[in-house]
Amino acid sequence: MKTDILIIGGGIAGLSAGARLAPHATVTLLEAETATGYHASGRSAALYEASYGKPSIMALARASGDFFLNQSDYLSPRGLMLAGRADQAEAFASECAEMGMERLSPAETLKQLPILDPEIAAQVGYTPEAWDIDTDRLMQDFAKTIRAHDGQILTKSPVTAITPGRRWQVTTPGARYEADLVINAAGAWADRLAQMAGVAPIGLTPMRRSMARVAAPEGMDPAPWPMIFGVREEWYMKPDAGALLISPAEEDPTTPHDAWADDMVLAEGIARYEAFVTTPVTRMISNWAGLRSFAPDRNLVIGADPVAKGFFWLAGQGGYGFLTCPAASQLAADLILGRPPQLEADIRAALSPGRFGR
Ligand SMILES: Cc1cc2nc3c(=O)[nH]c(=O)nc-3n(C[C@H](O)[C@H](O)[C@H](O)COP(=O)(O)OP(=O)(O)OC[C@H]3O[C@@H](n4cnc5c(N)ncnc54)[C@H](O)[C@@H]3O)c2cc1C
Repeated sequence: MKTDILIIGGGIAGLSAGARLAPHATVTLLEAETATGYHASGRSAALYEASYGKPSIMALARASGDFFLNQSDYLSPRGLMLAGRADQAEAFASECAEMGMERLSPAETLKQLPILDPEIAAQVGYTPEAWDIDTDRLMQDFAKTIRAHDGQILTKSPVTAITPGRRWQVTTPGARYEADLVINAAGAWADRLAQMAGVAPIGLTPMRRSMARVAAPEGMDPAPWPMIFGVREEWYMKPDAGALLISPAEEDPTTPHDAWADDMVLAEGIARYEAFVTTPVTRMISNWAGLRSFAPDRNLVIGADPVAKGFFWLAGQGGYGFLTCPAASQLAADLILGRPPQLEADIRAALSPGRFGR
């Protein structure tokens, strides 16, 4: 099958890029699993906020704000709290300032989050500038856009070989494709995919992060509660459809695989959360883990490979793949279609695969 652009990976990266490109080119997206969003993109905490991470991440998040806050309805208000013990005053102060949070009194805190223990949470910061993202609908809508422009999304299509030539030859167990441009949106597998194509890898590291979904405290409705982080991201909790998501917020380096939660890591994270609240966790509903994949400098990797013509990177989304996707996919499309990019040159340089000096 011939196509202009072949996207490999059906997570938020591949789907958002596909939706930007499909009106301008023939797009085919190949996903190894039986459904899109099966890996990291189906396992996130689904939060949008723009004052978290490296400058390039914040720039992408801010540039995504117009799409999220003005042009679409994927967000709903959540709010974000930071809690620190008395002995964490210094780290608390710097994180609170970094995220532009106001400090809350114990009475204000309990109004927002009645289960927090003011004896332990000696200092609390808060910002309303954080929203839940309807990630499922976002991905479905990007997929619909691709199909509406005669693009194809093919699941159960693991790419097993990529051969350079006048056009790229890409093989799956059931088919062969020819494309002018290959977009590597393979998440934790992006380096492996590059190596398959004879392209030098970036040095991406998939990092496992686990999540427990637990019952809300008896008789309480967590819907209006904010998401809350411990200082230095030692744990976080986020209300989720009548239950609570609790994460140990670990970053354990691993290899690309179908990740699952480590029981001990999960238990330790839940204990760190429980130390800050007055209601114990009584029942686990489910748990999972996903891989957040980072480049060595933790910036995303967006751009044409400097050596392999027609091989485009859209990888290294780390813990920010959703909150950056409107601007990241816009940048990818601008670069591919030869349009002037909206992001500033220093940010583009921080994201470019050329920064690794290959
Ligand atoms: C616990 C957790 C919490 C998070 N919270 C947030 C959050 O609050 N906000 C936020 O913005 N981000 C968050 N993230 C990060 C976000 O989920 C990721 O950055 C994002 O999902 C990465 O998307 P992706 O498309 O690059 O990767 P993936 O979703 O992993 O997609 C890559 C796809 O490529 C496919 N693939 C790989 N190799 C091949 C091949 N050879 N052939 C065909 N297909 C292939 C895979 O099957 C996979 O489906 C979180 C992540 C985790 C794990």
